[in-house]
Amino acid sequence: MSSLLLAACTPKPEPLHYGTDECDYCRMTIVDPQHGAEVITQKGKIFKFDAIECMVHHVQKTGPDQFGSFWVNDYTATTGALVDATTCTFLISKNIPSPMGAYLSGFEEKTAAEKFLQEKGGEVFDWDRFEETRDKILTLLFLLNLD
Ligand SMILES: [Zn+2]
Repeated sequence: MSSLLLAACTPKPEPLHYGTDECDYCRMTIVDPQHGAEVITQKGKIFKFDAIECMVHHVQKTGPDQFGSFWVNDYTATTGALVDATTCTFLISKNIPSPMGAYLSGFEEKTAAEKFLQEKGGEVFDWDRFEETRDKILTLLFLLNLD
Protein backbone atom coordinates (compact mmCIF):
# COMPACT_ATOMS: atom_id res chain seq x y z
CA MET A 1 0.00 0.00 0.00
CA SER A 2 2.75 2.47 0.83
CA SER A 3 4.17 2.21 -2.68
CA LEU A 4 0.78 3.11 -4.14
CA LEU A 5 0.58 6.17 -1.92
CA LEU A 6 4.07 7.23 -2.93
CA ALA A 7 3.26 6.76 -6.60
CA ALA A 8 0.30 9.10 -6.26
CA CYS A 9 2.61 11.90 -5.10
CA THR A 10 5.28 11.39 -7.75
CA PRO A 11 5.14 13.60 -10.86
CA LYS A 12 4.56 11.65 -14.05
CA PRO A 13 7.38 11.53 -16.60
CA GLU A 14 6.89 12.85 -20.10
CA PRO A 15 7.11 10.07 -22.71
CA LEU A 16 10.39 9.92 -24.64
CA HIS A 17 9.93 10.54 -28.36
CA TYR A 18 12.29 8.04 -29.91
CA GLY A 19 13.94 9.25 -33.09
CA THR A 20 13.25 12.94 -32.41
CA ASP A 21 14.07 13.83 -28.77
CA GLU A 22 17.66 14.82 -28.04
CA CYS A 23 19.71 13.71 -25.05
CA ASP A 24 20.16 16.66 -22.66
CA TYR A 25 23.65 15.46 -21.78
CA CYS A 26 25.39 14.21 -24.94
CA ARG A 27 23.02 15.78 -27.54
CA MET A 28 22.54 12.54 -29.45
CA THR A 29 19.07 11.58 -30.67
CA ILE A 30 17.22 9.25 -28.31
CA VAL A 31 16.56 6.06 -30.29
CA ASP A 32 16.95 3.08 -27.95
CA PRO A 33 13.69 2.34 -26.08
CA GLN A 34 15.47 -0.06 -23.72
CA HIS A 35 18.03 2.40 -22.31
CA GLY A 36 16.41 5.85 -22.20
CA ALA A 37 16.13 7.90 -19.02
CA GLU A 38 14.57 11.08 -17.67
CA VAL A 39 14.83 13.25 -14.57
CA ILE A 40 12.31 15.76 -13.25
CA THR A 41 13.60 18.57 -11.06
CA GLN A 42 11.82 19.68 -7.91
CA LYS A 43 10.55 22.66 -9.92
CA GLY A 44 9.12 20.35 -12.59
CA LYS A 45 11.73 20.84 -15.32
CA ILE A 46 12.30 17.71 -17.40
CA PHE A 47 15.61 16.43 -18.75
CA LYS A 48 15.71 13.48 -21.15
CA PHE A 49 18.59 11.12 -21.89
CA ASP A 50 19.42 8.46 -24.46
CA ALA A 51 21.20 6.36 -21.85
CA ILE A 52 21.08 5.87 -18.09
CA GLU A 53 24.78 6.74 -17.95
CA CYS A 54 23.99 10.17 -19.45
CA MET A 55 21.41 10.72 -16.69
CA VAL A 56 24.03 9.85 -14.09
CA HIS A 57 26.63 12.14 -15.64
CA HIS A 58 24.09 14.98 -15.85
CA VAL A 59 23.11 14.58 -12.21
CA GLN A 60 26.74 14.45 -11.19
CA LYS A 61 27.49 17.64 -13.14
CA THR A 62 24.58 19.66 -11.79
CA GLY A 63 24.29 18.15 -8.31
CA PRO A 64 21.60 15.72 -7.20
CA ASP A 65 19.86 18.06 -4.74
CA GLN A 66 17.58 19.80 -7.24
CA PHE A 67 16.14 16.60 -8.66
CA GLY A 68 12.79 15.23 -7.59
CA SER A 69 12.37 12.01 -9.52
CA PHE A 70 14.33 9.69 -11.77
CA TRP A 71 12.98 7.47 -14.57
CA VAL A 72 14.45 4.80 -16.81
CA ASN A 73 13.33 2.37 -19.47
CA ASP A 74 12.80 -1.20 -18.31
CA TYR A 75 15.23 -3.22 -20.45
CA THR A 76 12.73 -6.08 -20.77
CA ALA A 77 9.83 -3.89 -21.89
CA THR A 78 9.27 -3.19 -25.58
CA THR A 79 7.04 -0.16 -25.10
CA GLY A 80 9.71 2.39 -24.22
CA ALA A 81 7.70 3.34 -21.14
CA LEU A 82 9.54 4.92 -18.20
CA VAL A 83 9.55 3.36 -14.74
CA ASP A 84 10.63 4.81 -11.40
CA ALA A 85 14.41 4.37 -11.33
CA THR A 86 14.55 4.31 -7.54
CA THR A 87 12.71 0.98 -7.47
CA CYS A 88 14.69 -0.56 -10.34
CA THR A 89 17.53 -3.03 -10.28
CA PHE A 90 20.49 -2.23 -12.53
CA LEU A 91 22.82 -4.52 -14.42
CA ILE A 92 26.24 -3.71 -15.83
CA SER A 93 27.09 -6.46 -18.29
CA LYS A 94 29.68 -6.33 -21.04
CA ASN A 95 27.27 -8.47 -23.08
CA ILE A 96 24.47 -5.86 -23.10
CA PRO A 97 25.73 -2.68 -24.81
CA SER A 98 24.02 0.60 -23.87
CA PRO A 99 24.06 3.71 -26.09
CA MET A 100 26.94 5.60 -24.47
CA GLY A 101 29.17 2.68 -23.62
CA ALA A 102 28.50 2.00 -19.95
CA TYR A 103 26.86 -1.41 -20.52
CA LEU A 104 24.22 -0.24 -18.05
CA SER A 105 20.58 -1.40 -18.14
CA GLY A 106 17.65 -0.93 -15.76
CA PHE A 107 15.07 -3.54 -14.83
CA GLU A 108 11.72 -2.94 -13.16
CA GLU A 109 11.72 -6.48 -11.78
CA LYS A 110 14.70 -7.63 -9.74
CA THR A 111 14.09 -11.24 -10.87
CA ALA A 112 14.45 -10.14 -14.51
CA ALA A 113 17.77 -8.45 -13.74
CA GLU A 114 18.99 -11.60 -12.01
CA LYS A 115 17.93 -13.73 -14.97
CA PHE A 116 19.95 -11.55 -17.34
CA LEU A 117 22.85 -11.60 -14.87
CA GLN A 118 22.89 -15.39 -15.05
CA GLU A 119 22.68 -15.41 -18.85
CA LYS A 120 24.95 -12.48 -19.66
CA GLY A 121 27.24 -12.05 -16.65
CA GLY A 122 28.17 -8.76 -15.02
CA GLU A 123 27.14 -7.07 -11.80
CA VAL A 124 23.71 -6.25 -10.40
CA PHE A 125 23.02 -3.38 -8.01
CA ASP A 126 20.10 -1.31 -6.83
CA TRP A 127 19.41 2.41 -6.74
CA ASP A 128 20.52 2.76 -3.12
CA ARG A 129 24.08 2.26 -4.26
CA PHE A 130 24.12 5.47 -6.24
CA GLU A 131 21.16 7.73 -5.53
CA GLU A 132 20.61 10.21 -2.67
CA THR A 133 24.10 11.61 -2.47
CA ARG A 134 26.80 12.74 -4.83
CA ASP A 135 29.18 10.24 -3.27
CA LYS A 136 26.90 7.40 -4.22
CA ILE A 137 26.57 8.67 -7.78
CA LEU A 138 30.33 8.90 -7.98
CA THR A 139 30.42 5.30 -6.83
CA LEU A 140 28.32 4.37 -9.84
CA LEU A 141 30.60 6.35 -12.16
CA PHE A 142 33.51 4.47 -10.65
CA LEU A 143 31.71 1.21 -11.37
CA LEU A 144 31.04 2.33 -14.94
CA ASN A 145 34.73 2.82 -15.55
CA LEU A 146 35.68 -0.66 -14.40
CA ASP A 147 36.80 -3.12 -17.03
ZN1 LIG B 1 23.25 10.93 -23.96
